[in-house]
Amino acid sequence: MAQQRKLAEYHRKRNFDETSEPEGRVERTRPSRLQFVIQKHAASSLHFDFRLELDGVMKSWAVPKGPSLDPTVKRLAIQVEDHPNAYNTFEGTIPEGEYGGGTVMLWDRGTYTAASSATDPVADLRNGYASGELSFALHGERLHGAWTLIRTRRGAQKQPQWLLVKRRDDDAEPGSDVVTEYETSVATGRTMEEIASGKRRKSG
Ligand code: MN
Repeated sequence: MAQQRKLAEYHRKRNFDETSEPEGRVERTRPSRLQFVIQKHAASSLHFDFRLELDGVMKSWAVPKGPSLDPTVKRLAIQVEDHPNAYNTFEGTIPEGEYGGGTVMLWDRGTYTAASSATDPVADLRNGYASGELSFALHGERLHGAWTLIRTRRGAQKQPQWLLVKRRDDDAEPGSDVVTEYETSVATGRTMEEIASGKRRKSG
């Protein structure tokens, strides 16, 4: 049960009688299928939650401006509490007054791998995370290719600031704006307004 302590902050911040977010649990790691998800979240301020599975939980960062495919653009990514893997399918509205109150959209999802061809990719990712330079490749529905998260010296101890940067490769698109290119849910095709109003999945 000690493993479940990883989600203590996540659980402490939420009242599961009020929010439809999942309680979740720490999962067993399947190194060949590490998940990633990006959720667009219209809370008190709009941001994108960037989550990478590591050691049974989703390591999580709030990225105010969202990802950029332009390798010259560095996007601030504020680390927040680990989330359960079960959060990866959450889309909906967190009631006002609850922690993170507002609309959540599944903006991208898929798997990710270590950027290097290390013999132990999970150890490589774990070391990158601990050292503050985490390089990885996304295999999403919208985002692909190599990225790096770099920890800066800024930010509170519990909310370290990182920078999310697209590496130069075939998936880089200098000058592009991927956040405005995709304004609907990758899961249901809904806009933020449609999710907020409780409209069901679009047909067709
Ligand atoms: Mn959020």
